[in-house]
Amino acid sequence: MKVAIIGGGISGLSAAFRLERARREGADVRYTLFEASDRLGGVMRTERAEGCLIEAGPDSFLSEKQSAAELCRELGIADQLVGSNDAHRRTYILVKGRLIEMPDGLQFMVPTKLMPTIATPLFSWGTKLRMAREFFSRPHTSNGDESAAEFVERHFGPEVVDRLADPLLAGVYGGSAERLSVRAVLPRFLDMEARYGSLSRAMLAAMRKHPPAANGPRPIFTSMKEGMQQLVDAVAAQLDRDAVRTGARIKVLGREDGEWVVLRQEPEANLEEPLAASQRRSELRLHGRFDRVILATPAYIAAGLLRSVEPRLADLLGETAYSSSVTVALGYSTAGFDGRGAKREDGFGFLVPRSEQKRLLACTFVHNKFPHRAPEGQLLLRVFLGGSNDAAVLEIPDEEILRIVRVELRQILGLTVEPSFTRIYRWQRSMAQYEVGHLERVAEIERLRAGVRGLALAGNAYRGIGVPDCIKSGLDAAAECLSAPSTR
Ligand SMILES: Cc1cc2nc3c(=O)[nH]c(=O)nc-3n(C[C@H](O)[C@H](O)[C@H](O)COP(=O)(O)OP(=O)(O)OC[C@H]3O[C@@H](n4cnc5c(N)ncnc54)[C@H](O)[C@@H]3O)c2cc1C
Repeated sequence: MKVAIIGGGISGLSAAFRLERARREGADVRYTLFEASDRLGGVMRTERAEGCLIEAGPDSFLSEKQSAAELCRELGIADQLVGSNDAHRRTYILVKGRLIEMPDGLQFMVPTKLMPTIATPLFSWGTKLRMAREFFSRPHTSNGDESAAEFVERHFGPEVVDRLADPLLAGVYGGSAERLSVRAVLPRFLDMEARYGSLSRAMLAAMRKHPPAANGPRPIFTSMKEGMQQLVDAVAAQLDRDAVRTGARIKVLGREDGEWVVLRQEPEANLEEPLAASQRRSELRLHGRFDRVILATPAYIAAGLLRSVEPRLADLLGETAYSSSVTVALGYSTAGFDGRGAKREDGFGFLVPRSEQKRLLACTFVHNKFPHRAPEGQLLLRVFLGGSNDAAVLEIPDEEILRIVRVELRQILGLTVEPSFTRIYRWQRSMAQYEVGHLERVAEIERLRAGVRGLALAGNAYRGIGVPDCIKSGLDAAAECLSAPSTR
């Protein structure tokens, strides 16, 4: 059986890893991984500058989602996993220009401790009263989908949407609480509402049921000692070299005689739109014929590739919204560093609600969040811009982005010193947006996809945006290829 994997981000790499394992164990399978760019890893990329470890894309994954750590164990690099410095896990929210610490006991956006909730200046008295009333809510099951903003507002009021839900969801999805689907992004909260009514009561019950382990809770985030690229490199090292093609942008997929035909664009041809397999074939080069295809690209790319095979599926894939983002890393020497709030001992960083009218969405104090990210004498900040409410930031030139970042860091942190280095990374349409109705659309995508022989989909557009979800999607796609009967 021959399998084509298209897309060499962590989803496609995970699929290739699974097939490689099966091949080594004697399965009759060969695969080719096609990656458009000249490197593997997609948005997962780590660089170094002045001894600092800089993550261009994801910096970690949620420890409670097991598939990333399991993959590391299979790769023999479990000893390279590193937990976040949770002793320093304080997060600040910018409110009316001031950084306010998130109160103790806040679980995502649900209060579980009385005194810190009463004492915090993060919420007005009106919101605090609402939180108290929420404790007595009755079980409630919603029929349809609604936005995360509507759901959170129903429980805790609009201020919690503005100061917590929206910035927290912007941090995870680069999206807006007004558009993201509660069923897709906060499914656990829906279960809690159905069982308890009150999210606070439900959270307390869950904490009683699963108290932290005797040696303390496990760190909330996990990363790799040498950065996330280490995971990419470890997977790539396991793959058959001849099976990996970088610089191979696939332009057309077709079905001929029960096989998948994979075509790429000739370098000299200038084809703006994906083509039907039968069109302008002379400008495309045959990459090969395959029994199965795993599409591990963003959904809008998959849509273009599948247009001539299954137009209705292509339409649905094309409807998935994406947001873009920019990350900026700034290194500072501790000598002369004048930024309040970003000192070595002080927190993981801050979030900026939209009502503050800044371009910065968030800032991570990288040197605090994980060990060994910055050498002695250096501090490393990473800021995020963009998201679904500020796509225009992608069009701004580097110098202007740096100017904006430095002005806003001065306003927020009082930081006036020059950074010793900066790096800017642009991620165009890289984060799928699970908007209201997402799960219904994914179910329909899966139904139509099941009708196309030998096709599997993986990536962050379907059932999880995080690195562990993407790894699982790739492993599952490969497992499905291995278990499905022959396509011919
Ligand atoms: C800035 C940022 C920060 C993030 N932070 C976190 C985090 O801290 N924790 C977390 O869990 N998740 C985080 N995420 C989300 C997570 O990193 C991504 O969802 C995940 O890495 C996506 O992997 P992927 O392989 O599905 O897609 P991608 O990484 O986008 O890879 C897709 C690949 O397909 C290739 N491709 C596209 N078109 C073609 C074609 N025609 N032919 C061949 N190849 C093609 C692309 O070049 C790319 O390499 C973050 C994402 C971003 C952008």
